[in-house]
Amino acid sequence: MELAPPRGTLDLLPPEGSRMRALYDRAAEVARRYGYRYVETPGFEATELFSATSGQTSDVVSKEMYSFVDRGDRAVTLRPEGTAPVMRAYLHRRQQLPTPFKTYYLTRMYRYARPQSGRLREHRQFGVEVFDVADPTADVEVMVVGDVFLRLLGLSRYEIRLNSIGDGTCRPAYRELLLAFLEANRDRLRDEHRDRFADNPLRVLDCKDQACRAVAADAPTMLDHLCDACREHFEAVTAGLAEEGLAPVITPTLVRGLDYYTRTAFEFVSPGSRSSRALCSGAVGTTGSPRSSEARPCRGSASGWGSSGSRSRSGTRGSTRPRSPGSTRSWWGSAQGGGTRPGR
Ligand SMILES: [Zn+2]
Ligand SMILES: [Zn+2]
Repeated sequence: MELAPPRGTLDLLPPEGSRMRALYDRAAEVARRYGYRYVETPGFEATELFSATSGQTSDVVSKEMYSFVDRGDRAVTLRPEGTAPVMRAYLHRRQQLPTPFKTYYLTRMYRYARPQSGRLREHRQFGVEVFDVADPTADVEVMVVGDVFLRLLGLSRYEIRLNSIGDGTCRPAYRELLLAFLEANRDRLRDEHRDRFADNPLRVLDCKDQACRAVAADAPTMLDHLCDACREHFEAVTAGLAEEGLAPVITPTLVRGLDYYTRTAFEFVSPGSRSSRALCSGAVGTTGSPRSSEARPCRGSASGWGSSGSRSRSGTRGSTRPRSPGSTRSWWGSAQGGGTRPGR
C-alpha cells in the first residue's frame, strides 16, 4: 500500500493545513470587502463545457485537461479553471441572481501536467468574477482585488502587466495583419509555431520560445489597431488604475490563451523569477457558455497557489505559506495553471 499522495497532489498536514486555511480566510475577507459573494460549482463537468469555451487551440484543452469517461459513458473533466463552470451555473439560474453578478471562488483545480514538469495536478485557486457589466470600472476593480490580496499576503515586489486584446470589431482585422506578418517571418520561428500558427496566431506573441519572442517583439500590436470603443475602454482602465495608485506596465505581447476573452488582459508578475511566473492574472470575456447564444460580458481574475514548481531549492515541497516575492515560484502559479482565468 502506497502511503504517499498520488503524483502531483499534496497532503496538507499541520502546520501547512492551518496555513492554507488562513490563506482561504484572507482571500474570502478581501472578496467580501469588495462585495463579491462565495460560489461553489461541481468538481467535474461535462468535457464539452471546457472544450467549447476554451477553444480547440488552447493549451488547456489540447494538453492538460484531466478527462475521463465515467461508468455511464459520459465524457467528464475535472475542473481545470473557474470561469466556465461559474458562468454555466450563473446562466442556469440567473433569474434568481442579481445583475451585475459579483462572485468569488476558493477551490481546487486539476490539470494533467506531465509529471516531469514538477507542476501539481491538483492546485488551489482564488478567483473573482463579475458578470453582466461592461463598464471599465469592473476591470479596474478585479485588478484592485488582486492587488489588495497579494499585498495582504505580504507580497509587494511585482508588476502589473496590462494589454488590450481587442474585440470582435477590431481583432479579426488585426489577426489578418498578424498572420501576414508571421507568414513573412516564418523562417525566424523555431518551435512548433513554425509550422502551425494560423489557428491561433496570438499565441506566438506570448510564446516562451526565444525565436518566437524575437518575432513577437517586431510584430504589429493589437494596441495600435484597436477600434474606437476598445481604445476608449483601454484608456478608461488605465485612468482608473492610476486613480487607485496602480501603475501597470503596458505589455503588447500579453494575450490570453482562451479564445473568449476580449479587451483587458492583465497579469501580476513577480520580477524575481526568470520565468516571470504570473501571481495573478485575468481578462475580460464576452461569452462564458458554449450553450448560450447570447454574448454576456464577464471579467475576472484569479490567483493560484501550489500549482507549480512545488519543489523549492531547499527541497521542501508544497508549502502553503507565502514568502518573499523572490521565492514565490514555490508558492504560486499563474491563474491559467500555466493562466483564469481567465492567461495561459
Ligand atoms: Zn513559439
Ligand atoms: Zn475593438
